[in-house]
Amino acid sequence: MEPLTPPTILKVAIDTPLRQAFDYLPPLEGPLPAPGTRVLAPFGRRQLVGVIVSHETQSGLDIAKLKPISKAIDPVPTFDADLLKLLMWAADYYHHPIGEAVATALPRLAREGAPLRETVEWWAHTPAGSAAWSTGEPRRAPRQRELLQALAPADGRPTAAVDAATLNARLPGWRDAVKPLLARGWITCHEDLAPLAEPADGSMESAAEATSTVAAAVPAPNAAQRSALDALEAADDGRYHGWLLHGVTGSGKTEVYLRLAERHLARDRSVLVLVPEIGLTPQLVGRFAARFPRTPLAVLHSGLTDTARLEAWRRAHSGAARLVLGTRSAVFAPLHRLGLIIVDEEHDASFKQQEGGFRYSARDLALVRAQGLGIPVVLGSATPSLETLHNAATGRLTRLDLPERAAAAQPPLLRLIDLRAERVHAGLSTTAVTTIERHLAAAGQVLVYINRRGYAPTLACTACGWVAPCTSCDARMTVYRNASRLRCHHCGADRELPRQCPQCGYAVKTVGQGTERIEETLAETFPGVGIARLDRDVVRRADELEAVLHKVASGEARILVGTQMVAKGHDFPAVTLAVVLNADQGLFSTDFRAAERLAQTLVQVAGRAGRGAQPGEVLIQTEHPDHPLLLGLITGGYESFAAAALAERRDAAWPPFARLAALRASALTPEDAVAFLEAARRIADRTPEGLRLLGPAPAAMARRADRHHAQLLVDAAGRSVLHRFLDAWLPQVEALPEARRVRWALDVDPLELF
Ligand code: ADP
Ligand code: ZN
Ligand code: ZN
Repeated sequence: MEPLTPPTILKVAIDTPLRQAFDYLPPLEGPLPAPGTRVLAPFGRRQLVGVIVSHETQSGLDIAKLKPISKAIDPVPTFDADLLKLLMWAADYYHHPIGEAVATALPRLAREGAPLRETVEWWAHTPAGSAAWSTGEPRRAPRQRELLQALAPADGRPTAAVDAATLNARLPGWRDAVKPLLARGWITCHEDLAPLAEPADGSMESAAEATSTVAAAVPAPNAAQRSALDALEAADDGRYHGWLLHGVTGSGKTEVYLRLAERHLARDRSVLVLVPEIGLTPQLVGRFAARFPRTPLAVLHSGLTDTARLEAWRRAHSGAARLVLGTRSAVFAPLHRLGLIIVDEEHDASFKQQEGGFRYSARDLALVRAQGLGIPVVLGSATPSLETLHNAATGRLTRLDLPERAAAAQPPLLRLIDLRAERVHAGLSTTAVTTIERHLAAAGQVLVYINRRGYAPTLACTACGWVAPCTSCDARMTVYRNASRLRCHHCGADRELPRQCPQCGYAVKTVGQGTERIEETLAETFPGVGIARLDRDVVRRADELEAVLHKVASGEARILVGTQMVAKGHDFPAVTLAVVLNADQGLFSTDFRAAERLAQTLVQVAGRAGRGAQPGEVLIQTEHPDHPLLLGLITGGYESFAAAALAERRDAAWPPFARLAALRASALTPEDAVAFLEAARRIADRTPEGLRLLGPAPAAMARRADRHHAQLLVDAAGRSVLHRFLDAWLPQVEALPEARRVRWALDVDPLELF
C-alpha cells in the first residue's frame, strides 16, 4: 500500500568537493530535524557532519536505498532560513560545492560536530504513564516505580518534566528503568538547549576596562555626521538599504557606526561589524565595548583558538552576544535578530578570500545578507573601492559623505620627494631625515611606511652576480639579518644566511631595504628615540599587535616603521608626519587594480598623520614625481583619482564595467597546469556573445612552493552571461581527464590577476 503522505527526503550538505547535496531519510528516532540543522550522516564508511539544506518529497535516487541520517547534532537549526539562503546563494554565485561553502561558515569545532550548546534531556510521564502511576503501577518493578514517582507532578510543578541532572542527583541508577518504561509508552524524553554559561575569561569586561579612559566622552556629532545619521534614520523603514559612508580618514566614521549601532541595539536587534583582518584591533573592540558596556559582545577572527572561536560563535547563535565584531568569515555568523551590518574599510582586500576553494567576498555577501533580511548595511571607507563608488554612482548604494576631519583636525599636507635629485642613504632621502628630525623636535610622532618586511629583499654576491634564490619558487629569498636567516615569503623556506657566495666564495651583500633595515637605520640616525616596528613578522599573535600599538599610543615609541599594517585604521593623535619610502612598485604593474591599491595605501598612510591638534605632513619618496597618478592624488585627492580611474576602467572594459572569473590551476609541471587550462578552453567551444576567454597564461610568479601556477581568465560583459556560461562549463571542466593532475579553483570576481 502507498503511504498517505509522501516520504520526507533530507537534502544534506556535506563537506566534500562534490557539487551536490546528498539525499537521506529522517533519523529513525526523534523528531524531524528542520532545515539548517547539523546532522551526523553515514557517508561511505564514515560518519560525517552535514547540514540539512532542505526537505524534499522526491529523490532522484531509489528511496529504498537511501540511508537515514544517524542523528541531529542539535535540537534546533544552526542556520536560520535567511543564513541558509545566503549560503546557498553564495555557493551558487561562486560556483562552489555547497558542502564546502557551509563548512566555511562554521568554526572548526562546530564543523567537527561540537554541539551548539550542551543539551538537556527532559523526562516526563506520558498520559498513560500518569494513569499507571496513579494506580500504583508497576508493582513488581520497584526501580520503574521510583522513576515514575520521581517524574510525578509535585512541588507545584504543573507539567512534570524533570531534567536528567536532577534525576541523577535524586535517583542514582534511574537510567536502568528507562528502557522498560519507554517500551511501555509510559515516559517520554525531549532534548533542549541548556542555558548558555557566561564566558569564563570575562573578556568583554576587560576590553571595556582597557579603554575606559578613551571612552570617557561621547562627542556630539558634527554637522556632517548629523546629516549622515539623519539620512540613515529617515530611511529606517524595516527594509533593505545599502549605504556607502565615504568619510576621509579621521572624519568620525566610527562615531557614526557607534550611534547607528546604538539605535539598533536599543530595539533589541543585534549588530554585525565586519572589519579587515588587521583592523580588528583591541582599540576598535575597546571603543565598541566602552560605548556599550552592558551589551554582550563577541569577537570572531582567525587568531582565536578553536575553543574561543566556538564559544564566541555559540554566543552569537544563542543571542547572548548582541554585538559581533569579526573578520571575513564572520559574515556567516549566526546572529540572532540581526538588525544592522557595518563593513568598515570596505575596500580592504582581506574581505575577499583569495586562497583555497571557496573564494567569497565578505563585503559583497554582507550586501546580499542584508537584502535577504531587509535590514540596512553600511560600507565605510576613506578610500572606497572603485566597485563600491560605481555602485553608489548607479544608485545601488546611497552615498553619505564626511568630507572633513572631525575634532578640528586639518587635512595633511602631501609632498613628493624626487629620489633622483636627493642624496639617499639606506632608503632614506636627506629631506626625509631632516623632516623626521623636525617633527621629533616638535614632540610629534612619525610613521614610516615601507612595503617590504625583512632586512633586505635580496642577498647578492659582490663578485659573480649570484643572488640568493628560493629553490622552490621563482623568487628571491629575503634576508633576515637579526635572525641570520634567509626566508622565502612565498613558500616559507627558511635557511642559514650564507657568509660568502656559494658559487664563487666571495663576499655577499644585502641589496635594498625592508622594515628591519629601516628600523636599524633610523635607530642609528636618531639615537635614543624609541622606535617600534609593525609587520607580519612582529605580529604573529593578536597580543603582539596590541603591545606595539600600546608602545605608540603611550609615546614610548616615537617612530613607527611598518608595512601596510601601519595604514589600517589606527588612531594615533600624536603622529604628525608620515613618510612613504617606496611608492613606485604600484605605478607600473600589469594588474589593472594596482593603481587603485596604491592610491588607497597612500591615502590611508597619509590619513594617519595629523589626526590630533597638530597639522600633519606626508612625504612620498618616488623616482617618478611627475607620474599622473601621484600628481593627481596630491592635487585632487582620492576623489579625483577615483573618477579618472573609473573612466579608464570604462574605456578598457574592466570591472566594474565587466565581470571576471579566473580559472586557476597549479601542478607539479608547467605543462600539466597549462594542459588542463587549454583543455578547459577547448571545451568552451561555443562561448556566448559578450564573453571571451583570455589565456591560459602562467602566473607572474609561475612557480611557488614547487608548484606551477597558471590561469585562464573569463571576461564577460555582464553578470548573467558570465554565470550562465560558468553553470554549463564547470561540470565539464571538472570531468576533464587533465583535471586529475592539477589543483584548480575558480575565482569569481578575482581581486588579483597574476
Ligand atoms: P574614522 O573612523 O573616520 O577614522 P574616528 O571615528 O576614529 O574616525 O574619529 C577620529 C577622531 O575624531 C577620534 O579621535 C574621535 O574620537 C574624534 N571624533 C569623531 N567624531 C567627533 C566629533 N563629532 N567631535 C569631536 N571629535 C570627534
Ligand atoms: Zn659569487
Ligand atoms: Zn619559496
